[in-house]
Amino acid sequence: MVNRVLGSFSAMLLLAALAAGPIAAQERQWGQDRSIEQVSQSVYRWGSDGQYGAYILTSEGIIVVDGHYCPSGTVDWLKSELARRHDVPVSFLVLSHDHQDHTCNSQLFDDTAVTVGHRNIRPHIVREQRISSVPDVTFENEMDLHLGGVKVTLLYVGPSHSDNLIHVHVPDEGVLISIDIARDSLFPDLRDMDVHGMLRGLRTLSRLDNVDVVLPGHGPRLLEQDNFMRMHEFLQTLHDSVLDHMIAGRPLPEIRRLVTMEEFRDLGGIDTALDPNIVTMYDFLYRYREPNDRLTEFEAVSCIEDSSACRTSD
Ligand SMILES: [Zn+2]
Repeated sequence: MVNRVLGSFSAMLLLAALAAGPIAAQERQWGQDRSIEQVSQSVYRWGSDGQYGAYILTSEGIIVVDGHYCPSGTVDWLKSELARRHDVPVSFLVLSHDHQDHTCNSQLFDDTAVTVGHRNIRPHIVREQRISSVPDVTFENEMDLHLGGVKVTLLYVGPSHSDNLIHVHVPDEGVLISIDIARDSLFPDLRDMDVHGMLRGLRTLSRLDNVDVVLPGHGPRLLEQDNFMRMHEFLQTLHDSVLDHMIAGRPLPEIRRLVTMEEFRDLGGIDTALDPNIVTMYDFLYRYREPNDRLTEFEAVSCIEDSSACRTSD
């Protein structure tokens, strides 16, 4: 059912994109607002087009975090800026996760850098044929990099936004680079998300010691650690509301009308992203639970093909 819903949603987006295509393609000017901002003694934030990576400068080399949108040209620009500004090479490239908007053109650093990521990242990069560096070194839970006297901890808090998202912590400077999971607006939807893992991860990150500032991957604002728990409240409330409605036997179209999340207006995107958040939360919970009156396999197929055939209780 949700595939069908998402299919129609994608088709609508596609039609809208086709209708607006040539004009939108002409109007989008990438890379007009490229910037590099120093955040702490060693940590810099770089980016453009509302999306940001980071780099850590040490006396022996640079650790770059992430690539960027493919069409932005911002990774090429960053590489030349690093060579112009600093006299040390890029020694490590850390990929926060496999999504194309954070990996694209990172292969430009392959000439000098060892690429590091979570052990789950490689199959996604290879399968999806990402335009990206492929990690040479992977780890399971935690890894420390020591370069030029700076300690950088790479931290995996379990499957959350993707099964391979990691966080980059510079504890001595109180900086946590937390791409995509740190945000002050809703996710566009919950695709590639383990919702229960995300809730656990947000709690872990909110309690991490030695964090004064949090660098998100999207949006110009630097965030604080409290932000993790605000997103946790939103996701937990959405999870519980949708689940309660499902247990009460309400179908997805009704749940989409009933769940308004008005108390989370301080987070951006309620008007635009709430509906896809509800639909994909429903999809996650449909796979999570078994109603008392068991569905047959045929009902499950009908439900995937036609959302009006979905039954969430007897
Ligand atoms: Zn992502």
